[in-house]
Amino acid sequence: MEQNTAENWQECIPGSLKLVEIEGKGRGLVASEPLKGGQVVLQESPILTFSAFPLKHGRNDEEKAANASSTYYCSHCYRQCMVSEGFSCPSCSHPSHTVFCSYKCLSSGLSKIHTPWVCDALRQFRHCSLLLDHQPEERQVQARYLVAAYNLAITSPSTFKTLLSLHGEGRQKDVDSAMFLHSIISSLSFPDGFSAPSVETIAALLDKESCNSFSLMEPYSVNGGRSARAYGLYKNASSFNHDCLPNACRFDYLDSIKDDKNSTDLVIRMIQDVPPGKEICISYFRVGLSYCERKQRLLDYFGFACFCDRCKVDESNDKDGSGGADDDDDDDSTFIAKYMCERENCGGTLAPLPPSNGNPFNIMECNFCGMLSKQKQE
Ligand SMILES: [Zn+2]
Ligand SMILES: [Zn+2]
Ligand SMILES: [Zn+2]
Ligand SMILES: [Zn+2]
Repeated sequence: MEQNTAENWQECIPGSLKLVEIEGKGRGLVASEPLKGGQVVLQESPILTFSAFPLKHGRNDEEKAANASSTYYCSHCYRQCMVSEGFSCPSCSHPSHTVFCSYKCLSSGLSKIHTPWVCDALRQFRHCSLLLDHQPEERQVQARYLVAAYNLAITSPSTFKTLLSLHGEGRQKDVDSAMFLHSIISSLSFPDGFSAPSVETIAALLDKESCNSFSLMEPYSVNGGRSARAYGLYKNASSFNHDCLPNACRFDYLDSIKDDKNSTDLVIRMIQDVPPGKEICISYFRVGLSYCERKQRLLDYFGFACFCDRCKVDESNDKDGSGGADDDDDDDSTFIAKYMCERENCGGTLAPLPPSNGNPFNIMECNFCGMLSKQKQE
């Protein structure tokens, strides 16, 4: 599989970052100049997005669809919209299946992400009992992703090539799902010159999704925390390595950005000041997770073990029997006290608001629940 070299990736990376080889980690991004807490180091639009919801919400789907007060999301910009106020895809079998918030999203959506091929593929999958009734719900979301990915191969081969260049070659754990998904995708009809992707390509695409996708989140609620509304894959943002004590974090502003063109943009902002040459890392999940949860997630989704300072300490505590879940190490507790959101069920990361006219802000924003708070003094 073709891998982009560091040189041709550098062109698209903002001047404040540099893509380099990092010992033991592969590629990573380092600061090429002094960076300030709150500074935006990357704002990027996705290669592709797909809905986080299964094609069918269980047996009572029709009942739910009939409940017109339930909220839907624009299939193009993923902002909340009501079916009654939006524009439905004229070819979908049910008006609630694909809704767009505006005429602009409708016309853009129908020509790019919800093309006749996608519409047809999703309609067929909605009638596929093997997929809906005999597989875990997660498989329906994977099917959505593969349709979105293969639609790129048809509509934008260069973007599909970018997707294929992301990290993830296909892992043993994905083989069964890839074989099943291959069997249902092979039953679709393809435009002239295209055929169903192979099991190997599907397994690689699934791995790339698992290693590189960012969740675009539902609003925070005290009871439920936050869940994903959609997922997006981003070319440059996927070059950030993970650290359980990150110095940068990601934000998304699905519902709050007025311009529907940029609602799915991902923003990476510095948590702290960082000198040139230092690697910029984000946490691939909420920083509040325990050692065991972090270890499990990194292995399951990303396929690696973390040897960051926090994990080293937690691991030795774990071996002592003092309980790795307690973050009682100095570095940890300072970081957690200063940069972890205290709101119930949150555990998000706090980063200062972007500096204005070069002056740092002492207002912190949580990347998970969005709450603003005053920066705590050291
Ligand atoms: Zn929209
Ligand atoms: Zn449709
Ligand atoms: Zn770690
Ligand atoms: Zn929070």
